[in-house]
Amino acid sequence: MVKIGVIGSCAVDLVVTSSKRPGAGETVLGESFKVVPGGKGANQAVAAARLGAEAVMIGRVGKDNFGEVILNNFRSNHISVSHVEPVTYCESGTAHIVLAEGDNSIVVVKGANDLVTPEYIEQKLDVIREMDMILIQQEIPEETVLYVSQICAEMNIPLLLNPAPARAVDPSVIEKAAYLTPNEHEAAIVFDGLSASEALRKYPNKLFITEGAQGVRYFDGQQEILVPAYKVEAVDTTGAGDTFNAAFAVALAEGKPIYESVRFANRAASLSVTKFGAQGGMPTREEVEGSL
Ligand code: ADP
Repeated sequence: MVKIGVIGSCAVDLVVTSSKRPGAGETVLGESFKVVPGGKGANQAVAAARLGAEAVMIGRVGKDNFGEVILNNFRSNHISVSHVEPVTYCESGTAHIVLAEGDNSIVVVKGANDLVTPEYIEQKLDVIREMDMILIQQEIPEETVLYVSQICAEMNIPLLLNPAPARAVDPSVIEKAAYLTPNEHEAAIVFDGLSASEALRKYPNKLFITEGAQGVRYFDGQQEILVPAYKVEAVDTTGAGDTFNAAFAVALAEGKPIYESVRFANRAASLSVTKFGAQGGMPTREEVEGSL
């Protein structure tokens, strides 16, 4: 079993559906309400655990009801919560989602995710040292991503940075990370001034740009390769990127070659979009291998 450490965000998504989106000062009656575990870090930890890795989550929640929802969800997915410490002075991260008129509007409150600081990570070095790979995203402070890239380089642990949501990435993080997995929109922001092809050529076997239903593109040192996605009936693409990243990390940590790892991750991600919810569709190892 490979050990994947996920350093990132945990949240609950509070989702309402309504036929009408309320305007300023307006109250409307909605139709349904759901509380769904989310946050890119948590999603990736759950996906890695379902795919057979020992996933260790390093993050923070509030000492509140939503924090309990988040921790229970980790427990039921066989993820240790020893390194997801509840704090009394801050609320859990939440995303407030209105699905109305065929589109979503979202307000994100980062809450305890902002407390995943370099000082917090410094207390976790012994756990991090045990990992085969570290997976990180950008829903935690920028200085934490920088710090993690430095300690991973010192400890010689491969770091996979999924630069989502989009924001500029410190050049030294780009240098130190072993793998970078932006989608096309994130790639344009992270590699501002370079075309996708130029960026791919600059970072052979390191930069992997996900292109939704198209698949994933990278440069192997000689040529640009598009690993096609699998054709599926997409129901909900939320969490496709999270499943891709977790599956890619698991396959690479197991020592699979790059092309095979991308193929495995594409397969896992394509299965995830056939069901509702970010975590709802995340496949098990058997489901991925049975369909490769
Ligand atoms: P994100 O969710 O981060 O925006 P993408 O949309 O690029 O990322 O999706 C990530 C991966 O999920 C893709 O590379 C592909 O493997 C898979 N995927 C996404 N959408 C589909 C789809 N409609 N059909 C099949 N696979 C998909």
